Formats: sequence, C-alpha cells, structure tokens
Amino acid sequence: MNRKYIFIIGGVMSGIGKGVTAASIFRILQSKGHSVTAMKIDPYVNVDAGTMNPVEHGEVFVTEDGAECDQDIGNYERFSGKDITKDNYLTTGKVYQTVINKERNLEYDGKCVEVVPHIPDEVIYRIKRAGKLAQAEFVLIEVGGTIGEYQNLLFLEAARMMHLKNPKDVLFVLVSYLPVPSTVGEMKTKPTQNASRAMNEAGLQPDIIVGRSSYPIDEIRKKKISSFCNVDPKDVISAPDADSVYEVPVLLDREKVGERILKKLNVRSKRKQEGLGKWKNFVERLKSADKRVRIAIVGKYFETGDFVLTDSYISVIEAIKHACGQENYKEEITWLSAEKYEKDEEGLRELSEYDGIIMPGGFGKRGVEGMIKVIRYARENKIPFMGLCLGMQLAVVEYARNVCGLKEASSSEFSKDTSCPVIDVMSSQKEVIKESRYGGTMRLGAYDCSVEEGTIAHKAYGKKMVKERHRHRFEVNSEYIETLKKNGLVIAGKNPNLGLVEIIEVKKHPFFVGVQFHPEFKSRPLSAHPMFVSFIRSAIKSH
Ligand code: GLN
Repeated sequence: MNRKYIFIIGGVMSGIGKGVTAASIFRILQSKGHSVTAMKIDPYVNVDAGTMNPVEHGEVFVTEDGAECDQDIGNYERFSGKDITKDNYLTTGKVYQTVINKERNLEYDGKCVEVVPHIPDEVIYRIKRAGKLAQAEFVLIEVGGTIGEYQNLLFLEAARMMHLKNPKDVLFVLVSYLPVPSTVGEMKTKPTQNASRAMNEAGLQPDIIVGRSSYPIDEIRKKKISSFCNVDPKDVISAPDADSVYEVPVLLDREKVGERILKKLNVRSKRKQEGLGKWKNFVERLKSADKRVRIAIVGKYFETGDFVLTDSYISVIEAIKHACGQENYKEEITWLSAEKYEKDEEGLRELSEYDGIIMPGGFGKRGVEGMIKVIRYARENKIPFMGLCLGMQLAVVEYARNVCGLKEASSSEFSKDTSCPVIDVMSSQKEVIKESRYGGTMRLGAYDCSVEEGTIAHKAYGKKMVKERHRHRFEVNSEYIETLKKNGLVIAGKNPNLGLVEIIEVKKHPFFVGVQFHPEFKSRPLSAHPMFVSFIRSAIKSH
C-alpha cells in the first residue's frame, strides 16, 4: 500500500478550528470507504499534556491506552468513532526525550546528533509508525501552532523532507482565517496570502486551502486566493462558521474536499462507500430539537482574565450534546464557578433553576468546599446530579460529612493530615508523589468496572462489565466503605482486580451518581454514552 500523508497546517491565528477541520476530513475520507488515522503534533516542550493546567491548555484528553493528550485527539475520536492510541500524539518534548535517550544508548553510532536532521527524522519515523500501526491508507497529521511562528518549524521541516522524498504521497492543507473587519464590511484575503507565503518560506506549498470565516467565501475571493496562493480555485474550500462543529463534515463534503484530496493524491475511489447519511441525520436532529434541558456544570477551570473558557471541559460538553441529540432535546449549559458558593449560601438556591448538575474532574483544593455545598443541595433537593472523578470523590466526602456524621471527612488531596480521609491517595501513588514524579504517572486509561445489578448504572449500561477511562491518584478509602454503605450509600461499581470503588449512587433520588472514571471520553455523536443518556433522561423528567 502506498500510504498517503496529509499535513494540516494552521494559518493566521489559533482557535479557528484546525482540529475540527482535520477531524472532519477524517470522517469524510472514512465515509468514502477509506481507512484513516490522525495524529497531532504539538510544539510545546512538555512531554505530554498531563502536567498542564486546563486553564492554560484546555482539557487533557485521555485515550483508551492511557495517553494524556491534546483535546484534538478527542475530536478525532468523536468524529471518526475510532479509538486513537498513544502513538498518535507527539510533542517537541517527547521527540527530544526520545532522541536524547537514543543518544545516551549509543544508538547513533558515535555520530554528532544534531537538531537537523535527527529531530525531523524522529518525527518522520513516528508519523510513519502511526500509519503502520493503524494500517491506515491515510495519515492525517495536524501540526499544532500557526505557520510563521518558530515553535513548530522542526515539524514543518519533517513535512518538507517527507514531501521531497515522496511528493506524490504527501499533501498540504492550509486551514486559514479570512477576517471580515466590521469597519470594512468585506472579507479580506491578505492574511491568508501571507500565511500561504509563510508556508512557501518553510519550503511548503499548500495544495488545498480551507478558508475559515464568519461567511462563505465567494467566487471572487476564491479566485483571488487561487492566484495569490498558487492553488486551483476548486482547491479553495469555503468553511463558514457553523451552528455545531458536527455540521463541518457536511459543509466540507459539499465543497468536495474529499474528492479534491483523492484526485490530488491519485487515489481511486472505493466502490463501497458508507456516505455521511447517518451523520447528517444526527446533525439534523441537533438542529431540529426545540425542547430544552438546562444543565449546570459546576467546576473551577472557567475563568481566564475577562473571558470564560469552556475548553477545559470540552468532552463533558460534547457528551451532553450527544445524549441530548439522541433524546431530541437541545442542551442549555450554564457554567457555574464553584468558588462563589463557599461564602454565598443563599446563592445555592439558583441551582433549583437547573434540570441537572454535572460536577466534572479537577485537582487541588480551590473551590472544593463550594462544590461540596452544591452536592449537598443537589442531594437534598433531588436535582439530578452526576459527579465525574473529583465530582464523585467530593460526593463521597459530602455523604460522609452530612449523612454518616463524619464531620471531619475530607480527601487527603486537600488536607494531608485529615483525621478522616474518606478519599485517600492510592497506595500505588505514594512512591510517585514522594519522589515528585508527576508526569504520566496517574492511574491512566481504561480499566474494567463490574457493575452491581439493580443500580442506576446497571440499568444505563445494560451489562455487568464495562471498561472506562481514568485519570486520578486518589480513591475511596476502603476503610470507610462499610460505614458509607451502612448509611445507605450504594457502591454500584468496583474494579474487579483492585476492589477500588468506581461508581457510587444515592438512593431515593431521581439520579445521584458519581463515577471515578471519565465516561465523557467515550461518548460519540452516533453512540452517546449510556451514563450521560441516563442522566439527561432524568434531567428531562425533572424539568
Ligand atoms: N484530583 C483527583 C485525583 O487525583 C481527581 C482527579 C480528576 O478529577 N481527574 O484523584
């Protein structure tokens, strides 16, 4: 097989939907019967995304095999319906770490190891390996950052070297921005021309330009981009803002991006094609839903300066959308910062306005006492509640304090010397923390969970054994399980090997569930996660 490599490169600025474009191309090629994989290469020196604060970086997405990566990997999984593995995520840090380790092991035969070619060589090796491992016909490679900066230069150099060797198998897609300044009222192509020129300076020529803008690109501007950027007008793809990111594959397909890619790479179309039919149905359902369900997400990674950042919880938000789409409802999500409830008890009453509350994952002490108050309110006022990871751990703390009467109950994550650590550090984590080895050492990736019959979770999953993704260092302390159970807390799921508590539930409540894992990472548009569906159904009922 002559594997094909498609580099997706961003122009003008970040945040214009390069990841969604890559994910959409993934879906489109798949819908035409081809096997595809996608990888992201990020310019930062961190070895992975796991050590970064979500406010800095957005959500840390966790794969089935336990890689802590950029949220774009989540986009690839959601759009393609396929699991992506750790081989498909690369950073400058990871590349340098590997090259330095190889050098220490004398793997370069005594040569002088240099930035060029050894760093791009390692990048190329990893791109090819990802394609081989996935047995894919197409490898999409999304290059993090924007063209023109020097952070991603070595990745572009790798792309150039690959193209030089196999020009027929390597394609470049520039995803660029076309502003419509309000003072001018006209779509401007100059920034995109500059982006294309910056690619030329790096030795690359875009084959296809996806133009992101608030409006569709008209013929005049397509021609202009064509002549200034040296591409066929048919290869200027209009990608206007869409109501939902899930509409983007449909819009790009209409612009024939798939056909153009196949033509340029000289790939014959497949006879058996699934098409985008099911996908379009889902998009239609999202658009036509008129009944609303109001969900509050109570967390602590929302604020950056004067702006609200929802990227930190993107998989949670998408999982809500998938479940709502399935039930023909439109989600109305409100972000509530937990900290404000620490002092403002009265403010808790506003929670009654919501049909359901989700408390996502998190780290450290900030906002935790506010979250515990919110949990109590949801439990006592019978508002559907779902706690994810930290949200589940705090639900256990709240139950211990206010139902079991263990007033001092806490997690040793927030008060190291608490006399009542109902949530405690996992024994496997003690050594790691003592030695400050924080990178990639949490309990990560998919583990089994056996689900107790007769519980909300069992009803939702419809089976006794499930596999869910994790990212944590703390767990429910087994010394307190009996007390919690005696006081009515339901242990609805456990890891069969470690006995670790995975799911808790509260009885006589429409929906009060906490999970130690992150179901949001496994939710897909065409197969919403059963726990989210179950939660949304109960929120709809309580409307
Ligand atoms: N901070 C908690 C732990 O490490 C919860 C982690 C999370 O929410 N992902 O166990």
